[in-house]
Amino acid sequence: MRCPVPREPDQTYPEIREAVRKLCARFPGPYWRALDRERTYPTEFVQALTEAGFLSVLIPEAYGGSGLGLAAGAAVLEEIHRSGGHGGACHAQMYTMGVVLRHGSPAQKQACLPKVASGELRLQAFGVTEPDAGTDTTRITTFARRDGDHYIVNGKKLWISRAEHSDLMVLLCRTTPRDQAAKPSEGMSVLLVDMREAMGNGLTVRPVRTMLNHATTELFFEDLRVPVANLIGREGDGFRHILDGMNAERILIAAECIGDAKFFIDRASAYARDRQVFGRPIGENQAVQFPIARAHVQMTAAAHMVAHAAGLFEAGEPCGAEANMAKLVASEASWFAADMCLQTHGGFGFAEEYDIERKFRETRLYQVAPISTNLILSHVATHVLDLPKSF
Ligand SMILES: Cc1cc2nc3c(=O)[nH]c(=O)nc-3n(C[C@H](O)[C@H](O)[C@H](O)COP(=O)(O)OP(=O)(O)OC[C@H]3O[C@@H](n4cnc5c(N)ncnc54)[C@H](O)[C@@H]3O)c2cc1C
Repeated sequence: MRCPVPREPDQTYPEIREAVRKLCARFPGPYWRALDRERTYPTEFVQALTEAGFLSVLIPEAYGGSGLGLAAGAAVLEEIHRSGGHGGACHAQMYTMGVVLRHGSPAQKQACLPKVASGELRLQAFGVTEPDAGTDTTRITTFARRDGDHYIVNGKKLWISRAEHSDLMVLLCRTTPRDQAAKPSEGMSVLLVDMREAMGNGLTVRPVRTMLNHATTELFFEDLRVPVANLIGREGDGFRHILDGMNAERILIAAECIGDAKFFIDRASAYARDRQVFGRPIGENQAVQFPIARAHVQMTAAAHMVAHAAGLFEAGEPCGAEANMAKLVASEASWFAADMCLQTHGGFGFAEEYDIERKFRETRLYQVAPISTNLILSHVATHVLDLPKSF
């Protein structure tokens, strides 16, 4: 008997995809362009997604969500990106929520998840990176010192996206200095910070303007008091607690890359069929059509890898290598497609009104964040292929 293998990974959750496409049609290119120009947060878009329940697809039904697996979140984000929009304004809710869900106490989950599912609370900020600790997370120095039933937090974070648009932040900090911990990856803890209380009371948020509209910020902690009741999981085990969330993050962002690649391939194909040069469509030239075809091949291969990694994650299987590999191939596929699409459009690709230069800038991020290509290659070399460690 033949096994029913889906022909395309994007045949998962067709109803969700269709509904997301309809919603995104209400937020076309001019909407995103205007926000990009002013570096403004897409409040109406995030509100619409929340009201339609798309940001809570991964929250269990018991807490008011849809209780679907990671592939449902991937389908939502892929369709947003394929439509020309950007999920960066709100995608974090899908993976930061997982840290609370898997490691939070019953009381913490009850207090937080139903309100996140309903949209009453936004859990959009994930505070890990610091000016001197990006790739090497164990070097973070933001420190939470215990003082009775509070932690007193001091330090600095950088590139913390959406901090100004979030009610809660999942914050990773040290509770034991690195040189006193049993291992560098130990002695870190996760705190759930209530941003509404923290802002101006020990937390200062400063926006950082970047080449894409990503609402990213720098955070300064000066004696910020966080109740011990907001510790997620066990003190000292924070790094382990966020690892699952990081795998989810990589898979979801890989899905965004697949959506971007499809956007570029759709646009390039349409333009190459239409644009007449030397009295014929440019798409008749193999030098124009082959890069489009190659982009499609690379995107399709990457989409299968993303679906595979999501399947492992949903089954509760270890998937660190697969999540990383999915992010690597998907981010390279979207970048190749972006470059191809710009080239196919000639000068018009540089014009703001085509949305290609904006998407080109947006998709470039994914080879650096949330983890850079080199670090993925290093992980595969040493953890999968058993090559000697270089650091
Ligand atoms: C727009 C934006 C949004 C972000 N949002 C968030 C967020 O919400 N929350 C958060 O916590 N972080 C966020 N980040 C941070 C992001 O995760 C980091 O930028 C990323 O992890 C890389 O860290 P770094 O910038 O410090 O680079 P570095 O660690 O300084 O690395 C610089 C370069 O050196 C390479 N490199 C380093 N060591 C090695 C090695 N041993 N071998 C080979 N190559 C190496 C890296 O691959 C990289 O290309 C964001 C970043 C950006 C730009």
